[in-house]
Amino acid sequence: MPRRRASACGVKIHRSYIIAELATCCGVHRNTVRHWMKLGLEPLDDSRPLLFHGATVKAFLGKQRASRKRPSPHGMFYCLRCREPRKPALGMVDFVPITELSGNLRALCEVCETVIYRRARQTDLPRIMPDCTIQIVEE
Ligand SMILES: [Zn+2]
Repeated sequence: MPRRRASACGVKIHRSYIIAELATCCGVHRNTVRHWMKLGLEPLDDSRPLLFHGATVKAFLGKQRASRKRPSPHGMFYCLRCREPRKPALGMVDFVPITELSGNLRALCEVCETVIYRRARQTDLPRIMPDCTIQIVEE
């Protein structure tokens, strides 16, 4: 399922929007706006059609964006499919050097077996991937 990133760029802070307008301005489906309501986006009041104030929408999306940035705990990768930090399957991790100091860690999600990545400095490996077998892979 392709996911479009919502953008509040087209939203004017001094305007109010009905759901369909807001969806168009943000480049998302109307159902996405309804989902935002479940996540806490508040309409101006209960009258129909529901109206959303531009400034409220911008603040909401800004907060959403900030909360999406979740650093993965040590020993974990952020799995894009699970949308959760996950451990590497069997504790096996490849390290693909990109520069002299850093590279990409690569493993399989232990839950869904999607390939998961994490950027890391080589010297940090023992610290951020404890209990894992790390194989250096030159590609
Ligand atoms: Zn996963």
